[in-house]
Amino acid sequence: MPRRTIHLALCTLAFAAAAATSGFAARRAPVPAHSGARADQSDGGDVARGAGDLTTAVTTAAHGVAGAPPEVGAGEVRRVLDAGSSGTYMDELLRGRDSSLARWPDRYSRPLAVWVQPAAPVDGWRPEFVLRAREAFEEWQRVSVPVRFTFVDDSARADVHLSWVDRFDEPISGKTLWARDERWWIVSADIVLALHHRDGTPLDESAMRAMALHEVGHLMGLDHTRDARNIMAPRVRVRELSAADRATVRLLYSVPPGRVR
Ligand SMILES: [Zn+2]
Repeated sequence: MPRRTIHLALCTLAFAAAAATSGFAARRAPVPAHSGARADQSDGGDVARGAGDLTTAVTTAAHGVAGAPPEVGAGEVRRVLDAGSSGTYMDELLRGRDSSLARWPDRYSRPLAVWVQPAAPVDGWRPEFVLRAREAFEEWQRVSVPVRFTFVDDSARADVHLSWVDRFDEPISGKTLWARDERWWIVSADIVLALHHRDGTPLDESAMRAMALHEVGHLMGLDHTRDARNIMAPRVRVRELSAADRATVRLLYSVPPGRVR
């Protein structure tokens, strides 16, 4: 049995009251330049640039049509990441994981089987939550990385499970537990979403979809970023993927996983 390492991400939804005063209205703007939600963290302005000779490879991955990412030799990974890091939060991802990256292998032609718990015996549960959760997977699928999803009814057949709880004991709204092998390929992932904040405030459909987007981001191999304009902020404020969310996951899937040297 190959050794597996388990990772856990704990995540919070910003309360609606707080969100309403911090630029929620701009959430659908593609570049909320004046958004009050902007964090102090710059959006990649301080990351390494250069290595322009590899820009082509990165661009190919970014627009990656179907299929496998371009072949990148182990020695070139750092240069590819540096060349493509502008507009991403790859630097935070690397710092947070001791310079290691985890991702799924190519699952374009053999999509990941996703089981979304179809009903939950929990007060406040609504069938629409299943639709919003599925939309989250579909949204990430549109980002042109070599991972696709297919929804299955049999949880025993699934690579990925999403289930619901009433609320967590901790001040969180969602969590993702994922496992990787020794080479940092992700091999499984389970998401749990809460129907209520810890104080009992229910999440509406929009909030549930945003939390699902965030957790699926973890499932893809992303981690938290301090910039609150991104869906991967630890306290989720926005409702859609940002350009940086998309660019970061594309960059992640343009290189092999493992320790970046
Ligand atoms: Zn999170």
